[in-house]
Amino acid sequence: MIRFDILSIFPEMFSSVFNCSLLKKAQQKGLIAIHLHDIRDYADPEKHRMTDDAPYGGGGGMVMKVEPVDRALQAVNPDGKAEVVLLTPQGEPFRQSIAAEMSRYPWIIFVCGHYEGVDERIRAHLADREISIGDFVLTGGELPAMVMIDAIARLVPGVLGNADSAAGDSYSSGLLEHPQYTRPVDYRGWKVPEILLSGHHRDIVQWRRRESLQRTLERRPDLIDRAELTEEDKGILEMLKRDPAFP
Ligand code: SAM
Repeated sequence: MIRFDILSIFPEMFSSVFNCSLLKKAQQKGLIAIHLHDIRDYADPEKHRMTDDAPYGGGGGMVMKVEPVDRALQAVNPDGKAEVVLLTPQGEPFRQSIAAEMSRYPWIIFVCGHYEGVDERIRAHLADREISIGDFVLTGGELPAMVMIDAIARLVPGVLGNADSAAGDSYSSGLLEHPQYTRPVDYRGWKVPEILLSGHHRDIVQWRRRESLQRTLERRPDLIDRAELTEEDKGILEMLKRDPAFP
């Protein structure tokens, strides 16, 4: 069981994503638990429950205040046992290997920023880790929290059935996945490769590996350097570099 807590000023954003498909089933099976916390509940009632304020030094926009986030964290995580993740476009880029690592954590708290971002003291003193889901800027950390929870939860043992196994997924093996086909064999003249209909398991495995290598080489050559490759893979890559139509 992995527990996710989310600190947000818009907790209502999460209900549709967490209440369908695999994330819903994972909660029903007790494999994951998700707790939402409204940061406003920890804001000062005498100051109109303000969760943001103007930035020192001037400039546009509002900055999320440190006190409500700190109080929320103290209430939710009094012993400091959870991993506290601050969502920020300035953080470490999220990738499959981080999802795999985090799927083994017992408890993760996500702090969602908004507006111009959060007071720097949240980053410096309250977060264990800062994560970005990509080189772009969103309005808030809510979508990034949903993206991360989805990617992490599907790697928790028992969440995916065999039918949706994660083992061959893109990035899991360090490469992009090979192409997939299902019925019909021929649709408007667009045919399924013969080899997939052959029933020759070994040939199919080899074809898939070659397609996976070729696809990764063409689309994400940066992944090749980090992937675990066999001598056979390296040989195939050399051939593909010389002649993309090989064999
Ligand atoms: N002014 C900030 C900056 O330039 O770094 C961006 C603030 S952004 C508009 C508001 C909030 O959205 C951030 O505090 C963060 O929680 C979230 N956010 C935006 N883009 C993100 C990304 N790519 N990854 C993770 N969180 C993001």
